[in-house]
Amino acid sequence: MTSLEQEPRTSARGEPLVVLAGVQKHYGQLHALKDIDLSVARGEVVVVIGPSGSGKSTLCRTINRLETIDEGSITLDGTALPAEGKALANLRAEVGMVFQSFNLFAHKTILENVTLGPIKVRGLAKAEAEKKARELLDRVGVGHQAEKYPAQLSGGQQQRVAIARALAMEPKVMLFDEPTSALDPEMIKEVLDVMVDLAKQGMTMIVVTHEMGFARTAADRVVFMADGAIVEENTPEEFFTRPTSDRAKDFLGKIL
Ligand code: ADP
Ligand code: MG
Repeated sequence: MTSLEQEPRTSARGEPLVVLAGVQKHYGQLHALKDIDLSVARGEVVVVIGPSGSGKSTLCRTINRLETIDEGSITLDGTALPAEGKALANLRAEVGMVFQSFNLFAHKTILENVTLGPIKVRGLAKAEAEKKARELLDRVGVGHQAEKYPAQLSGGQQQRVAIARALAMEPKVMLFDEPTSALDPEMIKEVLDVMVDLAKQGMTMIVVTHEMGFARTAADRVVFMADGAIVEENTPEEFFTRPTSDRAKDFLGKIL
């Protein structure tokens, strides 16, 4: 992708793209999301951190409606999340998601993994989808692996394919839920580098990660969650040097 193509997105930076207001989510008795208000601006990179079980994955999953919410609202680019059907499928295509486990289709080639969504959901012709897929695979550094199957690639390569697959849908926002947690240490950087590039190019990103180096360098804002609530949010500089809540101080004391 050239910087020119990215220009409209960058120049519109600042306008809210993803807005959660008063979001409540229960799993039976468990109050998993407590009155979440979060507005992510176009081009903004928000890193979500917090202890295990604090609701970070649930938050991500509500944004592309893999989970329903009990109360409140979520809007994407001014449109409320539709409940079901074609409208929901279209909306999901606007929200790219990358999980801890790469979730590639094992019996499809790398190229097919990336072209499937654009052909089925976006209605692209095969040749066009393949051209675009090869560009994206080149961009994440796995262009030469296009004809292989997922199991023939390393974890880091598979995760970069997963990122390319999400990007192929031309999402408005990319959600990453601990994208490097399942990777061997030497592969973490190659995935983070792709994410940093994406951030630099102006992609709107919500990233759940324990990689504090990434949070410090790439995040515009850090959101700290505990027990289903947003406890604190700030610039990485402020958050890491002057956390205000006891929960955040305790958490940072354990991980830094
Ligand atoms: P995190 O990603 O921060 O570790 P999660 O969002 O996965 O936290 O989980 C938040 C809480 O909700 C945890 O207590 C978890 O056990 C619970 N939870 C998550 N998914 C489900 C589910 N599908 N059914 C019941 N409880 C769930
Ligand atoms: Mg999680």
